[in-house]
Amino acid sequence: HSKALGKGVWSVFEPDMNERYLRRQLLKGELSKAIEQGTLAVRYQPIVDADTGRVVACEALSRWQHPLHGNISPSEYIPLAEEMGIITKLTESVIRTAAHDCMRWPEHVTVSVNLSSIDFRREDICQTIRNALDAAGLPPERLVVEITETAVISNESDMISRLSRIRATGVGIALDDFGTGYSSLSYLHRLPLDRVKIDRSFVAGIETGDTPMALLHGITDLCHGLGLKITIEGVETADQLAIVRSSGKIDKVQGYLFGPALPAIAIAEMASRMPPDTGGQAGPLEMTA
Ligand code: C2E
Ligand code: MG
Ligand code: MG
Ligand code: MG
Repeated sequence: HSKALGKGVWSVFEPDMNERYLRRQLLKGELSKAIEQGTLAVRYQPIVDADTGRVVACEALSRWQHPLHGNISPSEYIPLAEEMGIITKLTESVIRTAAHDCMRWPEHVTVSVNLSSIDFRREDICQTIRNALDAAGLPPERLVVEITETAVISNESDMISRLSRIRATGVGIALDDFGTGYSSLSYLHRLPLDRVKIDRSFVAGIETGDTPMALLHGITDLCHGLGLKITIEGVETADQLAIVRSSGKIDKVQGYLFGPALPAIAIAEMASRMPPDTGGQAGPLEMTA
């Protein structure tokens, strides 16, 4: 491509840089339309109780199926939405959809939604969340917001006060992808958190010894010691599950072993499989696996 500009004129872009630029420009235009018209879908990945294997929660994950470009990954379009200043519109629509869908699931099921660090630049983020809950009639205790370590570090004092306001309404707060990013441990006890989600990199390769078990145990002990509840992400095999459960300090598990992000109706079915009052008797984890 670069030579096409003519004799002696060279593009400052490498060809693949140029293509990336064009794709981003194209997707940006399409993305704002998709968010505006509400054509992004929300899917829910099941989260199970580590002791009983019962589906007790799920995570809302947005999905963009473009008519021409096919499935576009959130790791591609979320950063674009952040750059364009339209992420909070996306966040709000995911919360509204998730709250609406959660109303149709058994009462023991909670739903978590990912927030962007950009969402915390808005003073009214707490009100946005409350309005979405009110519109659906969902009790705040059934919503959890997931934040990442980068969000915490980028604008600490505003972030913490806004987070505290959200938590005071009854919404749960989870720190996502814990153990990646800056991993500055000193701030952990200062954050208004209920739960930590330990990143899947601590699980991948744990059954072969490629990832030392001491890492998972260390991070689990730390979080448990601070009184935080723990979800482990990225559990893909029964071997991994057995190892993860052995510490006894983990209360929820998420991963492809239990299912990918699914339509709302699938969560309704999975969560009804074991009635709340049968405890663990009706279905050991092995059945789910
Ligand atoms: P996340 O919040 O950590 O979500 C978990 C990601 O791990 C999801 O990828 C999920 O499909 C994937 N995953 C779940 N179980 C397994 C497993 O067993 N093995 C492996 N290899 N992967 C697993 P997804 O849906 O592609 O989302 C990627 C990231 O994009 C999310 O990471 C989250 O940070 C962001 N994201 C997705 N939807 C939204 C959204 O609506 N709003 C915001 N702000 N971010 C979102
Ligand atoms: Mg998440
Ligand atoms: Mg995560
Ligand atoms: Mg992640």
